[in-house]
Amino acid sequence: MNEKDVPALLALFAQQSSENALLIMDPAGAIVWCNGTCERLFGYPGSELRGRPLRSLFTPEDADKRIPEYELHVAAHSEDVNNDRWMLRADGSRFWATGNTVGLRNKEGKVTGFAKILRDSTDVKEQLETLRNQLKSVADSDQHKTRFLATLSHEVRNPLSALASGVEIMRQQPAMVSDTLGMFERQLKHLYRLAEDLLDVTRISTGKVKLDFQVHDIREPIANAVESVGPLLAGRRHRIDQHILDVPLLVRADPIRLEQVFSNLLANSAKYTPEGGQIELRASTGAGEVWVHVIDNGIGIPPETLPHVFDLFTRGDSASAQATDGLGIGLSLVREFIELHGGSVQVRSDGPGKGSEFTVRLPLADATDRMATSYNTPRSTDTSVDAAQPES
Ligand code: ADP
Repeated sequence: MNEKDVPALLALFAQQSSENALLIMDPAGAIVWCNGTCERLFGYPGSELRGRPLRSLFTPEDADKRIPEYELHVAAHSEDVNNDRWMLRADGSRFWATGNTVGLRNKEGKVTGFAKILRDSTDVKEQLETLRNQLKSVADSDQHKTRFLATLSHEVRNPLSALASGVEIMRQQPAMVSDTLGMFERQLKHLYRLAEDLLDVTRISTGKVKLDFQVHDIREPIANAVESVGPLLAGRRHRIDQHILDVPLLVRADPIRLEQVFSNLLANSAKYTPEGGQIELRASTGAGEVWVHVIDNGIGIPPETLPHVFDLFTRGDSASAQATDGLGIGLSLVREFIELHGGSVQVRSDGPGKGSEFTVRLPLADATDRMATSYNTPRSTDTSVDAAQPES
């Protein structure tokens, strides 16, 4: 073999290369020759490719922007053009092509045609997209964590400053001790709750949550939650209407965790509803499940925030603007705990100012569980409690 054999070998390469699609165009951009890979890649028989303008293989968006003409123009007047872009198959589907277009000049430098070589790199493009998305979500979660640390610092500093001023008051006015102790108790409770929530997040992420499953009437944790959120509801002069089915609603669950779930939902309704608001608590059954709805007529949730409210460290803008306490942890714990019980939680809001509705669905205890447990404590229901007593 010697140099004079090269043109024939190049022709064989062009015909036999299984990865590279090769096209030869005339100076006007009409295809005059292509190899078998080109037919396979674009999904046209060679007879339909020959004579076809190159631009018909471009996506309509690129063709509208006159990219095919631009590509040939640059190849004709300066140098090879990279042509990494989506291209169109005969059936309308697309693939990510990477390659080059070359202007073919004769001895006088006149462009006598073009050659285009490309390959299908859709998988690489997809991997890149996946990596890009992963990078973005890492960056987002990093940003969330930074924001979380900032909020956490405030959340801890505020009660600490209150405690510090309490100490000062007691030092200067010993008569104020009993008043100040009440405040101490509240602030310490707040800090304790904060630490517990943070520990729960860690327990969940390390799979170390312990649930104490018991068959019980879900109306008990609901009632306990209403009681524990009572001072907050009263402090904000909210009215709470309860429509709870008047029969035992037996579930197999951890009553302490359920109380935590309903307290979180009720506390959010209280926080994100302007003073004197209306909160509704409903419990009913259907399709082997118990449904608990917590509904408020508060600030509502914008549609773009709705899909993220259950994500860890998510705080709505309005939440930060209102500077209410909270770290963006509560709803994520609600979802985790409910899912660990085989249930689900959903949110609905018609938008800012239109209130919110959270629905918890849990499986009812099955027949065997029910028979093993006797209940004689149907609690009275359908009550309206005007929680208008401010916290003392
Ligand atoms: P936070 O500690 O901020 O209250 P949550 O995880 O409990 O954290 O809630 C996440 C975000 O969801 C809140 O910051 C708020 O923007 C929004 N949200 C939760 N409950 C309600 C509600 N009842 N009404 C309006 N917005 C709510």
